[in-house]
Amino acid sequence: MTTSPDLNAAGFDTLGLAAPLLAALADVGYETPSPIQAACIPVLLAGHDLLGEAQTGTGKTAAFALPLLQKIDLKRAVPQALILTPTRELAIQVAEALQKYAHHMPGFHVLPIYGGQSMVVQLRALSRGTHVIVGTPGRVMDHLERKSLVLNNLSMLVLDEADEMLRMGFIDDVKWILEHTPAERQTALFSATMPDVIRRVAREHLREPQEIKIRSATSTVVTTSQSYCQTHSGQKLEALTRILEVEDDFDAAIVFVRTKTATVEIADKLEARGYSVAALNGDLTQGLREQVIERLKAGTIDIVVATDVAARGLDVARISHVIN
Ligand code: AMP
Repeated sequence: MTTSPDLNAAGFDTLGLAAPLLAALADVGYETPSPIQAACIPVLLAGHDLLGEAQTGTGKTAAFALPLLQKIDLKRAVPQALILTPTRELAIQVAEALQKYAHHMPGFHVLPIYGGQSMVVQLRALSRGTHVIVGTPGRVMDHLERKSLVLNNLSMLVLDEADEMLRMGFIDDVKWILEHTPAERQTALFSATMPDVIRRVAREHLREPQEIKIRSATSTVVTTSQSYCQTHSGQKLEALTRILEVEDDFDAAIVFVRTKTATVEIADKLEARGYSVAALNGDLTQGLREQVIERLKAGTIDIVVATDVAARGLDVARISHVIN
C-alpha cells in the first residue's frame, strides 16, 4: 500500500492548547496528537463532559491531562482537579505524566494518594497544598471523610479506567465520591469497555457527555509472523541488536519508536554498533525523507528508526523486519 506521506497531519498547536503545554510536548517529542487526543482535547477545553471508550496505549492520559492542566489556576494551591484510578501504579504514572506536561507551569503541584502509603506522609503533603490529586477511590474517600481533603473548589473530575475500578469493587466508592464533589464540575469518564453499570454511572453523573470511541485499529497482514521479547527498559538496545544478529532472513528493518528524540538516539547507538542506519521523523523535510527511503530501497542503509507519523504509508519491498 502506498499512501501520500502524511507529514502535515494537524499538530498539537491546532487544538487550542496554551504555549506552556505546547512547549512541554515539544520537550517530550510528541509530533502529532493521537486520535483520542485530537478528539478529546477540544471537547474538554470547551468545558463539555466526556465519555471516552479507549484502551491504554492510545494516549488517553495526555488526552485528559493537557486540557485539565490548561484549566488550572496556579495562584490557588487548592485541589481543582481530581483523577481517580483503579491502582496505585496507575495513580503514580498519571501523576508523573502531569508533572511532565506541566514542566513549563512554575509552582504546579500534583499529589498521588493511594492506599498502602503512610497516612502521615499524605496528610502532610495535603496540608502543604496541591493543584491536582490523583488517587485510588478508597483512599480518596478516606481523606474526604476525615476532611483532610476538601474538594469545594474542584472544577474537573476524571475517572480513568472506570471498568477496572468496577472490576476491583470500587464502584460504590466512586459513586460516593461523585456525590461529594461540586455538581457544577466537569467530568470525564474513560473506560476500555462500557458495561451497563458504567453507562449508568455516566447517565447519572455526567451532563450531556460527548461520546468518543477509539478503536485500537491496528491490523497486521496474515503473512507476517509476529513474536515478542520481554526485557527491561535498560536492556532494550541489547535485545534489539541481539535480534538483528540472530535473524537469518534479515534484509532491512524498520524500528518504531515514540519520539523524534528517540529516533536520533537509537539510530546513533545502532550506528556506533556498526549498522547502516538513518532516523526518520517529522523534523525532516519531504526531500530528506524521500532520500532516506531511496537509500533504504537501494541498500545503502539497512535500518530506519522512525516515528509512526514519519513512516506512515512507507512502502519498501526489502523490509524483512519491523520492530516496535
Ligand atoms: P497512554 O495511553 O496514555 O498510557 O499513553 C501511552 C504512551 O504513549 C505513553 O508512553 C505516552 O507517553 C505516549 N504518547 C502519548 N501521546 C503521544 C503522542 N501524541 N505522540 C507520541 N507518544 C505519545
